[in-house]
Amino acid sequence: MKTINALIVYFLTGIVAFSQGQPTSDPLAYPQQIVKQLCSPAMEGRGYVRSGCQKAARFLKQEFQTMGLMEYRGVSTQPFKLSVNTFPKACKLRFGWKNKKPGIDFIVNPSSGGYAGHLKVLSLSAQEILQYPFGKSKNRGYILSFVPRLGISADTLKMVRLKLEKLARIELPVLEFTREKLTWSVSSETFKYPYVQCILSTNDACPKQIHLKVDAVYKENITVENVFGYIPSKNPSDSLIILCAHYDHLGRMGRKTYFPGGNDNASGVGMLLSVAKKLKRTPLEKYNVLCIAFAGEEIGLVGSQAFLESPLLDRSKVSMVLNMDIMGSGEEGITVVNGSVYTGLFDRLVKINQTYGLLKAIKPRGKAANSDHFVFSNAGIPALFIYTMGENKNYHDVKDTYDALSFSAFNALETLVLTFLKSF
Ligand SMILES: [Zn+2]
Repeated sequence: MKTINALIVYFLTGIVAFSQGQPTSDPLAYPQQIVKQLCSPAMEGRGYVRSGCQKAARFLKQEFQTMGLMEYRGVSTQPFKLSVNTFPKACKLRFGWKNKKPGIDFIVNPSSGGYAGHLKVLSLSAQEILQYPFGKSKNRGYILSFVPRLGISADTLKMVRLKLEKLARIELPVLEFTREKLTWSVSSETFKYPYVQCILSTNDACPKQIHLKVDAVYKENITVENVFGYIPSKNPSDSLIILCAHYDHLGRMGRKTYFPGGNDNASGVGMLLSVAKKLKRTPLEKYNVLCIAFAGEEIGLVGSQAFLESPLLDRSKVSMVLNMDIMGSGEEGITVVNGSVYTGLFDRLVKINQTYGLLKAIKPRGKAANSDHFVFSNAGIPALFIYTMGENKNYHDVKDTYDALSFSAFNALETLVLTFLKSF
C-alpha cells in the first residue's frame, strides 16, 4: 500500500520527466540496490577495519562514473587523513559461564584500550565512583563496575560516565551496566584501558569476575576520500549547489560484529545517487550541482571540514548546501536542521510539500552540529540538513540494517528534493 501511494505521488507531481529512459518502473529499485550494497558485509560497516571506508569509496566512484557524472575541478575524489581507534580482532566479554554477544549485550567505548585476561570486579556506587581517587595502583587486576540504581538522574549518570572515561583513560578497566539501548560511535582518541558498556539483564547477578579480551589498534594518519560527481547547469553558470551525504559509518567491533549503517547513512547516499541520476538527465537551468559523498563524518565531520578548507572550494560561488543523512524512514515526515535559520529556504520546502502533498510533516530545527551541513553553515554558507522521522530507532547500533529500513517516504522525499532544486 505504501509503495502504491508513493508511485502515485511520483507520477502526479510531474517528476516523471526526470525518469525518462529509466530501465525499471520501480523508482526504489536503484536506490535500494545502492543502500543494500553499502550495508552488505563486504563493505565492513564502512569504517576503518579491513578498509571498509575505502571499499565504499571505490564503489561510489564507480557509480558516479557509470551514471556519467563529471569530475570536479579535475578530480573525482579528495583524499585526506584521519587517525582512529579500531577493534579489528577480538572483542569478547564473558561472565556467568556465558559469552556476551558483542553489539547486542555489550559494546566497548570507541576510545577503549585493549586487554586480555581475567579481572576481578570492584562494584562501586555513583558517589564512590565520583570520589574515586586517581593513582590507586593497589586495584591492579580489577575492573571497576557500575550498576546504576533505578531512577538515577540524567545529570548524575552523565557525571559518572565522564569519570568512568577519565578512569579508563589512565587508571583501570571499567564496566558500566546500563538499561539503555547500546549506541556505538567512532573515536580518534585512545584510552589506556577498556571501557565496556553491558546491558543490565535481570538474569545476571553482578559478576565477581569477568573475562575480557579486547584488541584495540590505533591507526594514525590513514587516508580516506570524499567522492565527487559534478553536473553542470544547462546554461553557463558559475553558481554551485552542493548536494551531499556521508557514506562512512562505524565499521567493525571485533571479528564477528559490524555496524551496517543502513539508515545512517547508506540511505542518504542512496538518495544522493538517485537524485544525481535524474539531475544528470535533466540538469538545473542556472546552477551547477556538485554531489559529494563525504567520508569521516562519524568521527567528527572531518571530511566536510577537509573539503571546506581545501582550494577545491570557492566559497563565494556556493549558493546552498543540502545535506541528506538518515533518509530511510519518514513515517512522521522530516526535520530540517537550520530550517529556522534559513527561513526562506525552509518556506520553499514547505510550500512544495503543501502543493504536492508529499510528506506528513516538515519540522524546522535550529543550528545543530550533528552532520556535515554544520561545517558549511558555520562558515557562513547557507546549508540545510534533512533527516527523516519515523519508526526506525536503530541509531548507531547493529540493528541499523538494510532490512530494517521502510523506505516509506523515500519517493516522496526524492520528489521534494528534486522539485526544490528545480525551483532555483
Ligand atoms: Zn549520519
